[in-house]
Amino acid sequence: MALARPFAIIARHAWIDGDFRPARLDIDDGVITEITLAQRAFDEPGDGDSTDIVHIPDDAVLLPGLVDSHVHVNEPGRTEWEGFRSATLAAAAGGVTTIVDMPLNSWPPITTADALRIKRLCAGRSSYVDVGFWGGAVPENLGTLATLHDAGVYGFKCFLSPSGVDEFGHLDREQLLRAMTEITGLGSRLIVHAEDPALLAGEGALGASYDGFLRSRPPESERSAIETVIDGVRRTGCRTHILHLSDASALPAIRAAKAEGLPLTVETCPHYLTIVAEEIPDGASEFKCCPPIREASNRDQLWEGIVDGTIDAIVSDHSPSTVDLKRAGDGDFGLAWGGIAGLQVGLAATWTEAQSRGIPLATVLPLYTTGPAAVAGLDGVGVIAEGRRAHLTVFAPEEPMTVNAEQLEHRHPISAYDGRTLAGRVRRAWLHGEVVFDAALGEAGEAPHLRRPPAGHLLRAGTAAPA
Ligand code: ZN
Repeated sequence: MALARPFAIIARHAWIDGDFRPARLDIDDGVITEITLAQRAFDEPGDGDSTDIVHIPDDAVLLPGLVDSHVHVNEPGRTEWEGFRSATLAAAAGGVTTIVDMPLNSWPPITTADALRIKRLCAGRSSYVDVGFWGGAVPENLGTLATLHDAGVYGFKCFLSPSGVDEFGHLDREQLLRAMTEITGLGSRLIVHAEDPALLAGEGALGASYDGFLRSRPPESERSAIETVIDGVRRTGCRTHILHLSDASALPAIRAAKAEGLPLTVETCPHYLTIVAEEIPDGASEFKCCPPIREASNRDQLWEGIVDGTIDAIVSDHSPSTVDLKRAGDGDFGLAWGGIAGLQVGLAATWTEAQSRGIPLATVLPLYTTGPAAVAGLDGVGVIAEGRRAHLTVFAPEEPMTVNAEQLEHRHPISAYDGRTLAGRVRRAWLHGEVVFDAALGEAGEAPHLRRPPAGHLLRAGTAAPA
């Protein structure tokens, strides 16, 4: 594939080293080769050379390409729910240039090295952004995680309660400890869906009442599971990450564990930070996810966890399905598929809520960049720095956008964000120095995605890619 010629980007507000600075970025062969900071970038914009220069308007910020370490692509096996092409188009349009795909809901699940090989082939055919992979730790593969680790997964996901698909079983307490011990020995990391099955209502119909659904998955179920996880981390030293925290009452235990020095991190999602149970109409199953979206007071406390640094990352947990499955049971919250489709609107949605709370964009950005990169152990992404890949995003924080689910890039026109007006908008994204999304082209009636770039199919650092 021909490489773009060298070019430069000049921006008044480039997010570099945790601050907005005026800067010129020189880019060659997909890499940021030089950064010129401060006023000099504007005083000597061209230096008389013939380099093409892209000027970022002053009403927009230049960000590192965003990182989303929690995405369910579902291909192969359930590609009719979501596939690499549609998911990565949505990612690019949301300014996300690196995703890490979850090991379940696609089939076969990524619990063996063979399954990972198939997954990588699928991703290689149709991805518009870089894709990395989580493996799964399930009762059947404990003791053999090394093969999947050696094949290049970033870490292992487990459930403590039923996962929603039969082929991906959950771990009991004893199995959790075994997994933690094994993963510690590999130098890998564990990521946990933490709900305590003993405190969840059983499977099956629940009715259309959102309140009924909320009561079926109470805060105690998360709190109890998270205490179990923390106990396991203390005993084994396993580097562990709590996925999609919804229950803010678990934050004190997480704060205490971090203060104790345990290797624990935690993420939450835009839907927990922006939507509240009080607003969800009965039967509106597009809002169903597990753990559930809780009340407004809970949301306030989650924001405290963002501001005080307890929460490490904000990720989409993008988990779409077909419209039929999402509407299964005609709005019965027990029967509908649980998962929110929001990969494309995450930063804009979170920023809208942050702004209304007087929280600056600078507080939120690490949770979309360096935070999730660290959760997955991704090297070289989530920062604008010399020698790093030129994954970049232009975000206009004051440009409103109304979400229309029909126009989102993911496969099916259903989203919890449909109809919401958001306070900011992604205008453009570069991957390896090539434009992968340009909103201006979309407005001109052209495809906003220029062409399929050579996405990288990231493996762990030090893992050789099979030919
Ligand atoms: Zn998930």
